[in-house]
Parts: sequence; structure tokens; C-alpha cells
Amino acid sequence: MSGCRTTIEAGPGTPAERAPATLIIDLGGLRDNYRKLATLCDGREVAAVVKADGYGLGAAPVATALAEAGARTFFVAQLDEALTVRAALDTHTPDCCIFVLNGLVIGAEDDYRAARLRPVLNSILEIEAWRDFNRRRDLALPAAVHVDTGMSRLGLPKDELDSLVVTPDLFDGWELSLVMSHLVCADEPDHPLNAAQLALFEEALARLPPAPASLANSSGIFLGSDYHFDQARPGVALYGVNPTPARSNPMSAVVQLRTKVLQVRQIDAPGSVGYGAAHRVEGPSRIATVGVGYADGYLRSLSGRATAWVEGSEVPIVGRISMDLTTIDVTSLPAGTVRPGTAVDLLDPRDGVDRLAAEAGTIGYEILTSLGHRYHRVYKSGNES
Ligand SMILES: *Cc1c(COP(=O)(O)O)cnc(C)c1O
Repeated sequence: MSGCRTTIEAGPGTPAERAPATLIIDLGGLRDNYRKLATLCDGREVAAVVKADGYGLGAAPVATALAEAGARTFFVAQLDEALTVRAALDTHTPDCCIFVLNGLVIGAEDDYRAARLRPVLNSILEIEAWRDFNRRRDLALPAAVHVDTGMSRLGLPKDELDSLVVTPDLFDGWELSLVMSHLVCADEPDHPLNAAQLALFEEALARLPPAPASLANSSGIFLGSDYHFDQARPGVALYGVNPTPARSNPMSAVVQLRTKVLQVRQIDAPGSVGYGAAHRVEGPSRIATVGVGYADGYLRSLSGRATAWVEGSEVPIVGRISMDLTTIDVTSLPAGTVRPGTAVDLLDPRDGVDRLAAEAGTIGYEILTSLGHRYHRVYKSGNES
């Protein structure tokens, strides 16, 4: 490998050396974010949402780090995700509660029981199935009930809530451990739906048997203590995405994406770069190619919009992003600075995920959950920085 300088990690043939890019996940930043939200919630419980593989960052390491920061309740979307989180947490924090947001997979009740999972019951049908399972087995296992206050997606709609409250038998033989709902517009503090959902949720709580209540996602926490109830359920803010889009980001960055140059070439007008000749150079230009593309979640819609950083200098992404490759115009940097192996950062050091999302015309959630599987992943414990 003579003449090839790598600034990522020494040692040819190591996973870091072979991988096109390294995704650095700062578990210290993640824990800081959890503690920050816990402070805002001032003594109320802060659960952690780790669905979709911990928002793309790895459910097991993420859940473990959050448990170290004090989280004792976790939410996932799917049954199999819950099993992964249970396995990750079982050695150190076996007492954790894990809720499955997408509900009860009817017929799989025993899988929930065996892994001590709590279904979020989203319909009368699911409530009946959970009650009947507990009766048959002479158990009294906990579960949550989700009340729909306006999302119109999951949870008991108004008519099902009405029939639930007049059928107390539905609560027999299992433990109602949480009543929850989900905010529609929490990232728009002035949206009238926030107050409307809050009122509907309080109304529902008054009609249901007493149980801990939960309403706020990440942005909901920032709507104030009226929205905190007994438990908040943040996801995206833990991972560094701005929960207050109208204001500067109060969270710490968690993700860093560092790639390296494969090749550099000099071209001149009327040359073009990449598929469709979408970028035409106007004069002598130096183009650096990195081995990251849309197959890695570096979305094609970032073509001609995003920027990269070489030793702190911002340089534009040019031409179409292809499956495995992206091209960068490094003409503004002194000749010789950019060579094969030169490190290139693909996320803004301050507002990386949010900025990339804006450039791609999407949201930070989608950037995170699209992060590819070809990256070499490094988990920083946080004591090292
Ligand atoms: C995803 C999800 C959350 C977390 O939302 P964020 O906006 O990521 O904080 C909370 N509650 C429910 C029901 C969810 O689906």
C-alpha cells in the first residue's frame, strides 16, 4: 500500500481499512442527550424509543448505553426488535420494561410472556386477546393501551374507547401499566392540535382505570411540563436530531460519517462528471471520488446539494450520487491536499443529520434509519473524547 495514506485507522486489511467509510457513533453524546431530556422532565420518567434498530444506529449498543444513563423503559415497533433489545439488556438490567408499539401479534402471546415484553394494545380485539391469554394461563401480565387522539394511525379510536369504558370486564385479569397517545404536530409548538390532543388525552385518562400516562415524544418534551405526564417517550432527540426545528439544536451530535478518497482526477471544460453528465465543469477542476453512494443511505436526492468536509474545509458534492460512489469538487483546496486515502467527512460537524435531511428534502429520522450496512461502525464510549 505504499504511497497510499489513510487517515482513518492504521493497519491495511483491518475492517476500518477495507470499509469505504466509518460510521462513528458517540455513545457518550447519546447518554448526554438522555440525561438532558431527563433534566427537562424533572423527575418524570424518560423512556427511550429504540425502534428500527435504534434509529439505524444499532439497537443493542444504543439500548445498553441508554440503560447505563438510567433508562429503564424501552419502546420498539416490532416483536422481533423487542427480542433483540431484551437479549442486549438481560445481563445488566433484566428489570427493564420493553413495550411493543405496533401491538400484540395475536397468536404470539407466549413470545411476549417468555421475553417479558409488554404489548401496546391498539384495539379492543387486542385487549380481548391479551385478557383471554392471561385468563387461560392464570397470569396477570402488564400491557399498555394506546388511545388515538388525532394521529388516526394506531390506537383505540373514539368509538372503541367508548365501548372499552363501559365494558370493565375487558380490564380483568391483566395489568394496565400505561395509557399512552402520540402527538401529531409536536415539532410545531404553536399548532392548535397540540392543545387539542392534550385535552383529549386528559379526557381519556379520566375515563380509564388509573394508570401511568405517556404522551410526549422528543418534540413533545419541549412543549412544557403539561405534556410530560408520568413518562416521556423520546426517540430522535436522543440520536442528536433537533427536536425544536425553529430553534437551534439543544442536543449533542451522536453520528459522524467519515469516508476516504479513492481517486482524484483533473478535468477541464467541456468535461462532465458522473451519470447523465449532470455536472459540467466550467474550467480546470479537481474531482475526488469517495466510495459511498445511495446504497449506503447517502441519498441520490443529495446530488448537487450536499457538501463534504476535508480537514475542516467545506467542498461541494457534484454530479449524480451513484450506487457506490460520490464525486466531490475539491478545486478550491490547494493541489496535493486531497489524495487517495484522504479523510472526507460527509456530515456537518454541528448539525450533520438535520442539515443533510434538509438538503435531501427529507427528515433526520429518514437519514438515520437509511444509514447503510456497509459502513464500518465504531462505537465511542464517550470517555475517550
Ligand atoms: C417513534 C415514536 C416515538 C418517538 O418519537 P420521536 O419523534 O422520535 O421522539 C414515540 N412514540 C411513538 C408512539 C412513536 O411511534
